[in-house]
Amino acid sequence: MSLLSADQQLTKNSYYAATAPRDRAFGSLQSNDECDVAVVGGGLAGLSAAIELADRGYSVVVLEARQVGWGASGRNGGQVIAGLACDQSVIEQQLGAQASREVWNMTLEALRLIGERRERFDIDCDWRSGYLSVAVGARKARELQAWQAHMQQAYDYSTQWIAPADLPQWIASPRFHSGVHDPLGGHLHPLKYSLGLARAAAGLGVRIHEESVVTGIEPGSTVLLRTATGSVRASHVLLAGNVYLQGIAPALENRIMPVGTYIVASEALDPVLAQSLVPSQSAVCDTNFVLDYFRPTADHRMLYGGRVSYSTATPMNLAASMQRRMARTFPQLQNTQVEYAWGGFVDISMNRAPDFGRLPDAGAARAFSNVYYLQGFSGHGLALTGLAGRLVAEAIAGDAERFDTFARIRHRNFPGGALLRTPALVAGMAYYRLKDML
Ligand SMILES: Cc1cc2nc3c(=O)[nH]c(=O)nc-3n(C[C@H](O)[C@H](O)[C@H](O)COP(=O)(O)OP(=O)(O)OC[C@H]3O[C@@H](n4cnc5c(N)ncnc54)[C@H](O)[C@@H]3O)c2cc1C
Repeated sequence: MSLLSADQQLTKNSYYAATAPRDRAFGSLQSNDECDVAVVGGGLAGLSAAIELADRGYSVVVLEARQVGWGASGRNGGQVIAGLACDQSVIEQQLGAQASREVWNMTLEALRLIGERRERFDIDCDWRSGYLSVAVGARKARELQAWQAHMQQAYDYSTQWIAPADLPQWIASPRFHSGVHDPLGGHLHPLKYSLGLARAAAGLGVRIHEESVVTGIEPGSTVLLRTATGSVRASHVLLAGNVYLQGIAPALENRIMPVGTYIVASEALDPVLAQSLVPSQSAVCDTNFVLDYFRPTADHRMLYGGRVSYSTATPMNLAASMQRRMARTFPQLQNTQVEYAWGGFVDISMNRAPDFGRLPDAGAARAFSNVYYLQGFSGHGLALTGLAGRLVAEAIAGDAERFDTFARIRHRNFPGGALLRTPALVAGMAYYRLKDML
């Protein structure tokens, strides 16, 4: 069964879906259409590219299998974080110091872009500034402090160190040792933001079609995309389908692995209690490899994420097990009810670096075809997808320099192909989880 079908169950009890009503539907594709650029996927990556392309005067069609924001973009933890999912050293080793600085600066541009778009398109999505990274013990704290010093020295990036004695002012939890606060990060309601971008794209003339699964691609000097009820011929195509693309671009499939991660939202808390748990109201994430991430919501709930799964089945007792996880961090919430529980899949790449590029040209007339792709955000794409969409638009408009900086990052296939990559990943993750525990 494809993830597009298996994943339906996971979206049923989402806090985001309950609090961001869809006031607009986009009809499915019912014709044979033509455009400059066709985008597969109405998540943040596809919508961002559509906006940037429309701004540059291109005609754009977005084909979305379900609804805009249905995938990871409308379900995630809402944490807006500088940088990539991988450590910056991965980029330093592969691209050198200067390109690594360029990449880092682009991740900061991604944060600014969210603010610019909220303002330009008047998107009310519960934005709060502040991101707190917390270490669970002295060893993790030393690693975090080393990271902070390196970012200051090599990237001129300043964050605030929070020593053990000061941490209680930042988080009312016995679990953590110390932390780093980044005022540039923050959090938002990702479905409200995604729906706002879809509205903005439509306002710029982008033709969006929901319930339009792309089932085939015919490459060529113009590319043909087929759905069950129509087709789109385009000069350029962007594949922004995350882990759901299965089948249309097999070459990409082995480079990412769908990993389930889960979130709960508590019942609404007494506002005084909610304020006391994280007094700065920042988003919080621990530094474990298999991490816990949480944040207070605008309506005083605790939104708590964590756990991983390599199966497409929804875990048993999801709400109860996540409640225990939340209460381990905040014993004050021991008797708090969980009202919503949902999840989604992140597109993990082997080295956790994003995987952007163009498909090879089947006819070999050119090294690369006119089919671009964005994937491998590895659970860190809320902000970066925005920038990624901008880079694709720049490349299509003739300036590929920044896109190619990312495209130069090398990626490996998961060993074992589609059948065996799960056991390989499980073994790898077990190793890192053991390291976290030790
Ligand atoms: C539970 C969870 C928590 C997360 N938390 C955070 C966080 O706190 N901070 C952070 O930075 N990142 C987080 N992430 C990651 C972040 O949400 C993603 O990196 C980002 O949303 C990816 O956007 P996207 O547009 O690439 O993919 P998606 O939002 O998944 O969009 C892809 C879309 O393509 C469509 N599609 C696929 N195939 C086809 C097809 N053949 N035809 C038509 N349409 C198709 C799908 O229906 C889907 O809507 C989280 C992810 C998950 C799942």
